[in-house]
Amino acid sequence: MERFDVLVVGAGPAGSATAIHLARGGARVLLADKARFPRDKPCGGGVTGRAVRHAPCDVEPVVEHVVDRFVLRARYGRPVARTSREPLILMTQRRRLDLHLAEQAAAAGAEFRGGVRVEGLDVDEDGVSAVVGSSPVRSSFLIGADGANGIIARAAGLGDGILRGVALEGNVPWEVLDPERYHETAWVELGVVPGGYGWVFPKGDHANLGVGGWLGEGPRLRDHLDLLAGAHGLAPGALTDVRGHRLPMRRLGSPAASGRVLLVGDAAGLVDPLSGDGIYEAFVSARLAAEAVLSGQPETYGAALSASLDRHASASWKAKRAADRYPQACLWAMRAPAVFDVVAGLLRGDLAHPSDARLLAQPSMRALSRLARIAPPVR
Ligand SMILES: Cc1cc2nc3c(=O)[nH]c(=O)nc-3n(C[C@H](O)[C@H](O)[C@H](O)COP(=O)(O)OP(=O)(O)OC[C@H]3O[C@@H](n4cnc5c(N)ncnc54)[C@H](O)[C@@H]3O)c2cc1C
Repeated sequence: MERFDVLVVGAGPAGSATAIHLARGGARVLLADKARFPRDKPCGGGVTGRAVRHAPCDVEPVVEHVVDRFVLRARYGRPVARTSREPLILMTQRRRLDLHLAEQAAAAGAEFRGGVRVEGLDVDEDGVSAVVGSSPVRSSFLIGADGANGIIARAAGLGDGILRGVALEGNVPWEVLDPERYHETAWVELGVVPGGYGWVFPKGDHANLGVGGWLGEGPRLRDHLDLLAGAHGLAPGALTDVRGHRLPMRRLGSPAASGRVLLVGDAAGLVDPLSGDGIYEAFVSARLAAEAVLSGQPETYGAALSASLDRHASASWKAKRAADRYPQACLWAMRAPAVFDVVAGLLRGDLAHPSDARLLAQPSMRALSRLARIAPPVR
């Protein structure tokens, strides 16, 4: 039987980032993914400025566009455009980003195996036994980085307290779009999907269009996506590579670790409820989980995770309620430079929470906070 200090299951951003930190800290790490790399993952591929700050390595080699402009609309009405002084989101493709991160994990000293499913988990007080591909493996710690549909959360008795959304996306070549409108720009369509929004993101040789919302919207997502495509002048059927995936969103305080099993990224339900992005949370949880394991105190991980993410997530839940219920009013608020500055500051990572902006006394921010307070709670 092969022995490792840590078995990391899943080589998405969360798993590879954890493996990088652990290997740099001197741990003997096996990073295993059932997919052969490079592999794709349904994702807008937007790495926010705040995610870049927590990336375990330079992501520049896989960046295809730098977004500094937002165009927002509510219910496909009149657009509002805002430009930030500094970059907001780096656009990549997940097949490129994830391969890059897995290669960095291997370069840091982790053993990376693609095309091997991890099964047969048996967790005891001293560690974990598992079958990786066809090889039996024993490790002192297990990192569950197996994403939204993973098995480890359930196997470890975790995973309660996670609400689920769902998103559907597709691609269209640049030639059929007006480049002036879409280059270096993120289009965000509010009020078009209950519990979410639509987007158009620029990529190297194509644009990515997507819609996300509550899990119950699943059967209607294809219609929502076709409406989005039509609103951007695309013929039905213009989109290729259409695929969907779940968005797991954790209720504050839900456990993310049990004994020697620690969950990171989507496996822990860390997708941001408002924006639907999860790469930032994947990177943050990866670092915290690695620190807890390297210090031999896995029990500190849950509190560290809450201390880092709950304040932001709490603001996101409130803003999500407001955006879902009052999209037009939120768009109106976004016209105010103060509000856009706060949103841009949060995306760039200059602000950890809206209240850090010292702009809450502005009428537009007061109106937005009031909307968040009176919007009905999430089901
Ligand atoms: C349509 C859509 C658009 C999105 N857009 C954005 C965006 O623009 N920006 C952003 O920040 N976030 C976005 N997100 C969220 C983001 O994609 C996730 O938060 C992110 O992928 C989480 O990374 P992860 O490493 O936790 O999981 P994943 O990236 O899902 O990786 C999990 C890995 O585990 C592997 N695995 C699963 N089970 C096993 C097993 N038993 N054995 C071995 N391997 C296994 C899988 O093959 C997979 O490679 C989007 C999500 C969706 C659905």
